[in-house]
Amino acid sequence: MTDSTELKKLTAENDAHFDVLIVGAGISGIGAAYHLKEQSPNKSFLVLEGLESFGGTWHMHTYPGIRSDSDLYTFGYRFKPWIGAPIASADEILGYMGEVIEENDLNKHIRYQHHISSANWSNKDQCWTLEGIRKDTGEAVRFTANFLWMCQGYYEHAKGYTPDWPGMDSFKGEIIHPQTWPDDLNYKDKNVLVIGSGATAATVVPAIAADTKHVTILQRSPTYFIPGLNENPLADQLRLLKIDEKWIHEISRRQILHDQDEFTHRAMSEPEVVKEELLEGVRAFLGDDYDIEKHFTPTYRPWRQRIAFVPNGDIFEGINSGKASVVTDEIERFTEDGILLKSGKTQEADIIVTATGFNLSVLGGINFSIDDKPVDFADTVTYRGMMFTGVPNMVWVFGYFRASWTLRVDLVADFVCRLVNEMDKKKVTSVRPELRPEDKDMTISSWIDPENFNPGYLMRSMHLMPKRGDKPEWQHTQDYWLEKEELPKIDLDDAAFVYE
Ligand SMILES: Cc1cc2nc3c(=O)[nH]c(=O)nc-3n(C[C@H](O)[C@H](O)[C@H](O)COP(=O)(O)OP(=O)(O)OC[C@H]3O[C@@H](n4cnc5c(N)ncnc54)[C@H](O)[C@@H]3O)c2cc1C
Repeated sequence: MTDSTELKKLTAENDAHFDVLIVGAGISGIGAAYHLKEQSPNKSFLVLEGLESFGGTWHMHTYPGIRSDSDLYTFGYRFKPWIGAPIASADEILGYMGEVIEENDLNKHIRYQHHISSANWSNKDQCWTLEGIRKDTGEAVRFTANFLWMCQGYYEHAKGYTPDWPGMDSFKGEIIHPQTWPDDLNYKDKNVLVIGSGATAATVVPAIAADTKHVTILQRSPTYFIPGLNENPLADQLRLLKIDEKWIHEISRRQILHDQDEFTHRAMSEPEVVKEELLEGVRAFLGDDYDIEKHFTPTYRPWRQRIAFVPNGDIFEGINSGKASVVTDEIERFTEDGILLKSGKTQEADIIVTATGFNLSVLGGINFSIDDKPVDFADTVTYRGMMFTGVPNMVWVFGYFRASWTLRVDLVADFVCRLVNEMDKKKVTSVRPELRPEDKDMTISSWIDPENFNPGYLMRSMHLMPKRGDKPEWQHTQDYWLEKEELPKIDLDDAAFVYE
């Protein structure tokens, strides 16, 4: 690592010191840059992005049909009206983000192809040093900053999660993970088998069904879906009345959030009623003769995993057309021609798509250290899912699962800007959360309560994640409705914040 003389020299030579460094130019990082410029205009900042363009998830994923599964009125930022249909394609989301960058002149603050591999906080210099590589030139890069805003998402971008099934090597066809979908994959008139039942499977299947010979969804267990029209009648009505788009955005957000709040509470208080309503939605498309009990009735209560919205019920239309079907069974092993199921049946395929999820990545795979001593985030406790005990001047954006991710991007940004502005007022150079005397005996447990929410990628990697306490200050509650009240009121003089 660098001593301070060398650091100053490098900084002077490369002009590489910033008040704030943001890692990641996805929806979180672009939101962070916007808010910092608006709310802390005296701060210099730079966004470091490993890919060749902005968008993160929406740039990376190119499988057929790629689209949001939550509405863009709430997945969009609060400050930039969304004027399209609620469910949007990746291209539409990228277009929206591109406008945010252009309208706010953010491009000059972003460096693409900059992959960061290490981050060290120096107590002596009171700053972070980030090191990495420029992927286009192979040059080593180094930046220093007073504050680090981590917007690197939550999953490994290079490779999706594929379980290790026996016999995979023997399969003669192609095995594809949606995260790395080849542009030239030819599925025309082929038998395609999609393993998985989540939002990705529900998106790919209707997008490719018409071109394939047949596409089969193979699922171990069913998932809840909400089929509905891809439109927002209230927004459309307001538009007809020529209401300002800013108002339409705000009103539509409030309406959607109100409905979601009610739905979430009902899913907790009357899960059986909600379950029946969801199944009725599926039955309306597939009819009474279809075995909904077997293929579309999950064993868990609604909302324990994300519920995918299916615009215009397109996956069910695919099933009705005879081009798509669902098999609920387990994989015994792969064979040369497909898959042998535990029931003894076989499923032939030319292409197998493993829509089996992500590998969780804690903080972008970056090696963190403090005074050159490695930080193991599993040894820290999170302050409201944003900061970590003992780690100075660093915030991580981890959004919501049940509400749109971006709702939290805006809330966390308000907090960060308030915090850095407060640090200037206090004339301090660092802040870190620490457990207060009254927190010392608090029960410490895993990042998230599996009883409450338990997607596979979190369950597989929970041991790597920071811990939570049993008070709201020491948890990522995943509750937007609570946080929108509590985060703006955080007392920055609370003893949980240690300033130096
Ligand atoms: C297919 C798909 C659909 C989804 N649909 C929805 C939805 O409808 N609604 C919803 O709320 N959520 C959805 N999600 C979750 C989604 O990932 C988030 O909502 C959101 O896009 C995450 O944005 P982000 O900017 O935090 O992270 P990402 O989009 O993951 O972007 C992070 C960026 O950081 C960069 N980065 C990471 N590590 C480094 C490093 N070490 N150095 C430099 N750069 C780095 C990455 O290259 C990437 O560009 C979806 C996820 C997927 C995969």
